[in-house]
Amino acid sequence: MSTTAVKPRVATVWLDGCSGCHMSFLDMDERLLILADKVDVVCSPVVDPKDFPENVDLCLVEGAVSSDHDVEKAHLIRARTKFVISLGDCAVTGNVPSMRNTFGRTAVLDTVYIENATIRKQIPREVIPKLLKFSKPVHELVKVDAFLPGCPPSADTIFYALQELVAGRIPQFDPTPRFGA
Ligand code: SF4
Repeated sequence: MSTTAVKPRVATVWLDGCSGCHMSFLDMDERLLILADKVDVVCSPVVDPKDFPENVDLCLVEGAVSSDHDVEKAHLIRARTKFVISLGDCAVTGNVPSMRNTFGRTAVLDTVYIENATIRKQIPREVIPKLLKFSKPVHELVKVDAFLPGCPPSADTIFYALQELVAGRIPQFDPTPRFGA
């Protein structure tokens, strides 16, 4: 009788990001097929999820935490995932979403919904998640187990990291910035 090895359950999630990190994930191209042999992608924008599932082994989180909805999702992900990875500079440092932090929430909302609006000049109070005062990196809210820097991290970086993690190792990155390498 043959036995089937249980594959790690992998999720990818998108908080306040531009989707560029997920585009990089897709840029792994044919290597996605190699990964598909090794993991089950149980939740991701690329597989049309409805709810974040229980018992996830590995979750890549793109984007900063910028709204009450992001806070809720980050806590849910942490509670249901063994190993959480910040994917890309927005998740790792706040990066682009945190550029608004120096202006204040009110000024940002006014600029977007009043000054630059051509019709219906009003700040939405329903449906749109409430903005936090500051955009934050994910680890300021929940424990993060590994960081994949880059804007976005390259497909090579993501593939390397996933292979290492699936093999039970923590991916190691050179922290020294290299320009023109
Ligand atoms: S790190 Fe860069 S590519 Fe990734 S979500 Fe942020 S801005 Fe987009």
